[in-house]
Amino acid sequence: MIKIVQSEDPVLREVAKEVPLSLIGKPKIKKIINDMIIALNAESDGVAIAAPQIGVSLRIFVVSGRIFDDDFIRGQGSIEGDLYKKARQKDMVFINPILKKISKDKKLLSEGCLSVRPIYGKVRRATRATVEAYDENGKKVVKDASGLLAHIFQHETDHLDGVLFIDKAKDLHEASMDNDEFNEKN
Ligand code: ZN
Repeated sequence: MIKIVQSEDPVLREVAKEVPLSLIGKPKIKKIINDMIIALNAESDGVAIAAPQIGVSLRIFVVSGRIFDDDFIRGQGSIEGDLYKKARQKDMVFINPILKKISKDKKLLSEGCLSVRPIYGKVRRATRATVEAYDENGKKVVKDASGLLAHIFQHETDHLDGVLFIDKAKDLHEASMDNDEFNEKN
């Protein structure tokens, strides 16, 4: 069982270090990514995870392929049509990600975090964002996103800079079963 650290852990407040490119694909980094995927998939409500959340101060985050599942996104209105795909997609790995081309257009969305349970709040973030990064094989990737995925990119890159969503959120509150906000956590 891989532990997801909680908000009082100082590792979440560090600026994470870049992964040396020569180490991408090597056992040490592969194991860290694998541990992140195991930890993420163990959380039924998890959509993404950053390496500091398992106590590793490196610039890596993983987005679960689960965010593209019909069952997962049904009933919550923040998903753009282009995310609406049938098949379970692969988890996506982003190493040394850089946020580019953030839209001026912003939207308030409810967010939670696997490291700040059980708190939710609303965060205003760009509705479109582009991330440039390396994948787990060291290949450079550029990914455009809108809606939920764009918010996730911003939440996760914040983690790599020691920022938690509670630093920026409005209406912080504990989750309850009777509200209708969506329950994903990053
Ligand atoms: Zn988080």
